Amino acid sequence: MEVVEKISHLMHRFHSEAAEFLSQSETAESFRIRWLGKKGAITEIFEEMKTVAKELRPEAGKQIHALRQKVESFLEAQQKKESEQWIEATIAARHIDPTLPVQFGSQGALHPVTLMRHRLMEIFQRYGFSIYEGPEIESDFYNFSALNFQAEHPARDMQDTFFLADQSTPLVLRTHTSNAQIHAMLQEKPPIRLISPGKVFRVDSDASHTPAFHQLECLVVDRRISMAHLKGMIDAFVQEIFGSDIRTRFRPSYFPFVEPGAEIDVACTLCRGKGCQTCSQTGWLEIGGCGMVHPNVFEAVNYDSEEYTGFAFGFGIDRMAMLAYGLPDLRQLFEGDVSLHRQFPLYQ
Ligand SMILES: [Zn+2]
Repeated sequence: MEVVEKISHLMHRFHSEAAEFLSQSETAESFRIRWLGKKGAITEIFEEMKTVAKELRPEAGKQIHALRQKVESFLEAQQKKESEQWIEATIAARHIDPTLPVQFGSQGALHPVTLMRHRLMEIFQRYGFSIYEGPEIESDFYNFSALNFQAEHPARDMQDTFFLADQSTPLVLRTHTSNAQIHAMLQEKPPIRLISPGKVFRVDSDASHTPAFHQLECLVVDRRISMAHLKGMIDAFVQEIFGSDIRTRFRPSYFPFVEPGAEIDVACTLCRGKGCQTCSQTGWLEIGGCGMVHPNVFEAVNYDSEEYTGFAFGFGIDRMAMLAYGLPDLRQLFEGDVSLHRQFPLYQ
């Protein structure tokens, strides 16, 4: 039999088999093997193409292709139908009622870092702060230069910062949540009162550092904002988290985007300031950095630094969680040990 004739026979065979398919208990898979498998009818007819005279090949090829397409679209429809039937049968067998409301609470608990972030957001929202989310992949402008980092600053080094490969303009995984300051100030005019919690990334991994960690940024910009507002705000939220007897102190320090800048210490929450192993017998624990917004930062976002002043601070949410919930080691937070999380359901 000529190949062309065979193809037309196959086309007839396919139509009758497809029509009978529904009345028989065949699966789409066995149908597929019979037609498209290694020894399937279509595979075999393709083989026979070698014997077809050259001038007849284009026409024969076209017909086989048309047949193949019919078989494929038929199979696709059958497979879809079968998977839908499977889902329905599975649901019926398991007596699942997908319309019932989801039940929370009997299993699981929020992660301590999530709990702390929620607590902080609740406190700051009560003080009238809005919550602003900044991007985790950032350009040099938002992460460094607009924040007054000089070209030679070590944070711009590969040793300290994750750079994204093969970018024509350098992109980094943000090293701090301070990039949110620049985004917010370019989008809005003062007064600004925001917090921005999120993940940040640094090339750092040891007992007290993890390559990804969580920060909370705070920015206030308005007329006549002073260091007194900054200290008052920090005292207020620290005491809400750790208790009203916990004192804070400020140590002068350098951060490129603030002037003056300071590091924030809180009295050790474990020994209440008496001195212990966690605080290296000093009675104090560092939780973050703060300062008055540098005029160069205002210049980068076109704010008039003669008219406006502002303060900013940032601290590690992980460290706050560790101190507030009495965890001895920061790494416990990221080991995924369920027994740790089971201790927190009451905070939900
Ligand atoms: Zn201590």
